[in-house]
Amino acid sequence: MENILYLVIPCYNEEEVLPETSKRLKEKITSLVEAGKIDRASRIVFVNDGSRDKTWEIIRSLHEQDPVFSGINLSRNRGHQNALLAGLMTVKDHADMVISMDADLQDDIDAVDAMVDKYLEGKDIVYGVRSSRTKDTFFKKATAEGFYKLMNAMGANTVFNHADYRLMSKRALEGLAEFGEVNLFLRGVVPMIGYPWDVVYYERGERFAGESKYPLGKMLAFAVEGITSLSIKPIRMITGLGFFIFFVSIVMLIYSFIRHFMGETIVGWTTLMVSVWAIGGLILLSLGVVGEYIGKIYLETKARPRFIVEQFLNTED
Ligand code: UDP
Ligand code: MG
Repeated sequence: MENILYLVIPCYNEEEVLPETSKRLKEKITSLVEAGKIDRASRIVFVNDGSRDKTWEIIRSLHEQDPVFSGINLSRNRGHQNALLAGLMTVKDHADMVISMDADLQDDIDAVDAMVDKYLEGKDIVYGVRSSRTKDTFFKKATAEGFYKLMNAMGANTVFNHADYRLMSKRALEGLAEFGEVNLFLRGVVPMIGYPWDVVYYERGERFAGESKYPLGKMLAFAVEGITSLSIKPIRMITGLGFFIFFVSIVMLIYSFIRHFMGETIVGWTTLMVSVWAIGGLILLSLGVVGEYIGKIYLETKARPRFIVEQFLNTED
């Protein structure tokens, strides 16, 4: 057996999209098997991330009807990144290559063919990259692109316009398994694995049913998560700011002396007030940033499990 492909799809309250998604993915797998590119033992794995709707019931009945569908039930909701990791780590011993994608099929599934081709050419990681976002709303597009720019400016280098739609080979997954971080930001970690890689471009479509589980608030939290998990640039910036303010304070000192010898010591109430507030604000902000990192260290030292698999439904041939 070789070239077994597993598709891993995290699902959180996706009852509206699963019937359609499962149908389209099955067609995709069937056509790839017929083309002789992947093995018959290939599977579509839905990871239920503690959904509160009928998602798990649907996954279970798909698995009962057709062995091409597999299901992983997590013990509770752990968020997209952890659900995805749970899927990847659970299937890595069964598959030769794994492609991760979202349940809403916003990422064009026809890119799967190109990803598999690149794998067959010898690539270990193939990133799906959005060539345009014409179907996203203006607001989603602007916030999402701002997200990538902010991340890169803060030292968290990621593949531009790549979300978590990617192919990884078995050995790349084994590499990923070595990264034990609790504060998980997969698209920053995967490039650190190394091995030959490539990209595949595709158009991003609309969610065909249901609504986004990533509103602006979650996206901002995700950006902060990403930056503080990947880089210490914000702390460096504080140090830089500290140096700058120290320099300004020397200039102020000299200025004050000159004013003193000129006998004008009472003026300057405004400058004083402004400085107190500005410096106070900066100190609080800096404390907050440093605290953010201390919080991460706290969570890492606890080394809590990143996910708990309650059940894995899989038919092996
Ligand atoms: N998702 C998840 N757990 C969560 C939130 C989202 O597994 O806590 C899944 C969701 O089911 C979907 C994927 O993550 O398959 C991406 O979510 P969504 O499409 O809502 O995000 P967007 O495309 O709007 O960024
Ligand atoms: Mg989506």
